[in-house]
This record gives sequence, C-alpha cells and structure tokens, in this order.
Amino acid sequence: MGNETSDFRYNTGDTKVPWAAVGENYNADDVMELVKFLMGGSGAGYDAALADVAAAVGRLAKVSTPPGKLSMGDKVAEVERAIDRYLGVEEGSSLFVTNCTAALEMGYRYAGIGPGDEVIVPTNTFIATVAYPLSVGAKLVFADVDPRTVNMDPADVARKVTDKTKIIVPVHIGGYPVDMDPIMEIAKARDIVVMEDAAHGFGGEYKGRKLGTIGHFGCFSFHEVKNCTSFGEGGVLVSNVPEYRAEARRARFLGVDFTSKIKNWLYNISLIKGKGDVAYQACNNASVTEIQALGLIQQLKRYDAIIAERRREATYMTERLKDVPGIMPQLLGDADHKPTFHLYQLQVDPAVAGGDVQTLKAKLEGKGVTNIPHFGPIYRFAAAIGKGVDEAAIAASCPVTEDVFDRRYTHLPIYGLTDEQLKYMADAIVESVDEMRAGR
Ligand SMILES: *Cc1c(COP(=O)(O)O)cnc(C)c1O
Repeated sequence: MGNETSDFRYNTGDTKVPWAAVGENYNADDVMELVKFLMGGSGAGYDAALADVAAAVGRLAKVSTPPGKLSMGDKVAEVERAIDRYLGVEEGSSLFVTNCTAALEMGYRYAGIGPGDEVIVPTNTFIATVAYPLSVGAKLVFADVDPRTVNMDPADVARKVTDKTKIIVPVHIGGYPVDMDPIMEIAKARDIVVMEDAAHGFGGEYKGRKLGTIGHFGCFSFHEVKNCTSFGEGGVLVSNVPEYRAEARRARFLGVDFTSKIKNWLYNISLIKGKGDVAYQACNNASVTEIQALGLIQQLKRYDAIIAERRREATYMTERLKDVPGIMPQLLGDADHKPTFHLYQLQVDPAVAGGDVQTLKAKLEGKGVTNIPHFGPIYRFAAAIGKGVDEAAIAASCPVTEDVFDRRYTHLPIYGLTDEQLKYMADAIVESVDEMRAGR
C-alpha cells in the first residue's frame, strides 16, 4: 500500500542523504502548543505541571527524530486495518478520508449519479447525505420514515423506486439500525446500489452484521460530534465492492496513479472506474493526516467502553420513561438491532401526553434541560436550495415525517452525564408530562 498512497513527502529509508527535508516538521514549542490546546487549564498547579512537561518535551526534542511523514503514511494504513478488523470485513475494505461527506461522494461517484438520476434518501437526515446528488442535479426522492424508529421505511422505498433509481441511501439515524433486509431485496431485484450513511452507526449491528457493512458501501463520520473522533474531522468509506477499493484509494488523492509513470516522471493520473461503464476524473483531495489516524487509533481502543457507557445512560432513561403515558423513549434494541446510542431519541404521543413535543420542549427548557437542535425534514433544506423541488408535493408524500417532526420527535443529551444529571432530566420529563396531562 505504501507507494500507492504516498504523496510528496518521501520515506527514503536508510539513504545517506534522505528526502525528508521536502517539508517542515514540528519542534518542541509546537508540541507544547498542542499539549496546551488539548489539555488546557489555569492556576498554580496547572502552571507547575505545564512547566514540568515543557522541560521534559525540551529534553525529548534533543534525542528524538521527527516522523518524516505527516500525511497518508503508516498510521493511516494501520487505522484502516484496525477498522477492517473491528467491522469484521475483508482486509482493505476501509478507506480513511477527510470526512463522511467525502466518503459519501465516492459511493455516489461509483454509481455514476448525474442529472435526472433518482436517489432515494430518507427525510430524516443531515444535509451531508444529499449534498453530492444535489450538486450534480440528480433528483432526490424522499422515502417516508417508520413512525417508531424514524428511519427510512422500506415499504415507502418499495412504493417510490423506479427504473431511474440508481442508488438508495439508508441512514441509521441516531445509531438505530435501519431495517436493511427489505431494502437490499428491492435493490438487488433492480441492480441498484445501496450506500449506508452510517455517520451515527459506527459499531451498531443489524442481524449480527455491523452497520455500514451490509450495503455496497458504508460511510462513517469521525467528526467531533459523533461517537468517536479523529481529532475533529474524519470519515471512512467501507467498500463491499472489491473492484472499487483500489479505485476509491486513487480517487482519494485526485486520481493520482503512482503505479503509472509518464515517461521518466513519477506518476500519471487515471480515470476512476465505477459501476458498469462509469468512469470519472477524481477532482477532490480527501487525504488524511497521520495525526488524525493516531487520534482514531486511540479512540478505537476504548470504543467498546464508549458504547457501553452510552448504553448505560440510555437504559437508565428508558427505564425511567417507559411507563410514562404518552412518552415513547429511545428503543434499546434487541438481538437483531444493536444501536450505538449516538442520540437519545424521544417521541411524544400528543393524544395521550396532553400536549405535543413543542409543549414538552418548552417545559423542559424552563426546567433547565437542554434541547439539542436537531434535523428537520431534509426536503425543506433541499427546497430552499431551489433545485425545483416541489416541497408541498413531497411533504404530502411523507405524512409520517410531517407529523413526527412537528408534533412528536426530539432528542436529549445522552453522553458524559452524571447520575444526578440523568435523574434530573428523567424527573423533569415525568413532571412535565404530569403538568401537560393536568392541563397546566
Ligand atoms: C455528521 C453527518 C454526516 C457528515 O459527516 P462529516 O464527517 O461531518 O462529513 C453525514 N450524515 C449524517 C447523518 C451526519 O449526521
């Protein structure tokens, strides 16, 4: 893999005069700024500890050597292998890229999405899911959501699929698994690509398979707000299409092909081959740094514990809320559905709770419980972009979505909370519903 993914900073091994000086490295002062950024603080104790570390880093700088490569080196390869193993996929399936949006673009490119092609997406997602098809003038077809999971409803996908459908993009919203089997069946019958937006789904499972490994492609996000991160930005494309793996690897870096030389020059570029006769010139650079890879390697080591803690907090909340009239708490999953608890999704049944989610949210805010701003029906955003999207017609074709967003759905903070904070939040919900039912 080394040469193929290399860029303009060369590891020349044991040569007497190496090429390591192509770019600039970091020194002890820079490292200290990094330490201060990641471990901020103030006060006499902090200052003293920092002075100790500065002295130690200064000593280390005198006897250490710089890494030589900062971008696309051994650490990137190492984290990709670690993710392959974690997901239980063939070695080489995972490709580490700048973010999930870049990974999604690769799957769309593979499918050859262009003007007039239909792309089936759920209504409940983040704009990143649909950014690429919007940008090339493809037609977004919105599948309504399942009223309980607020995930893409396979029955509505079956109703809306046509001969023009080129790709279906289920999103495991909040980390709760989409019902993938019927979607895979629909896609298989019509030779349609399935790409899972698993930005929330890293580590979750559907019928014993990790989310993001079921469709042709799976895309993960390691942005700072997700369950784990690679220093703030990062994404992974998992490819179940073996012949596209090397293509995507070149697409990550502008289609540069180090195996093909122009005369005596170092490299050529080549077109990336997608599905069937699809071929395209890569135009993005989605390369990642060794530091990002290192950050992700570290978080992977404790990722089981991260999910376990999220599950613990979600379980407490659901246990407290499951018998509250008119409250439908986050599903905890079962043998076939293992969520990642990225979001704690809560719904209100207005007919029973004495008010809708807007009332509940106002009450919670009054009691000091944060309401995380969340996704709206994505066709509202798409309509705003002015691509000729008929918002009213789409809304009419997605009645569950409209009702869910207006009257039923929100989500709550769910990670890093103390037992006291969890109890406070559960009490506040119970109290609020009591008040609503009493008409207060
Ligand atoms: C965060 C998110 C993305 C985009 O992830 P980035 O890594 O920030 O590009 C895509 N889809 C969903 C559902 C997301 O929440």
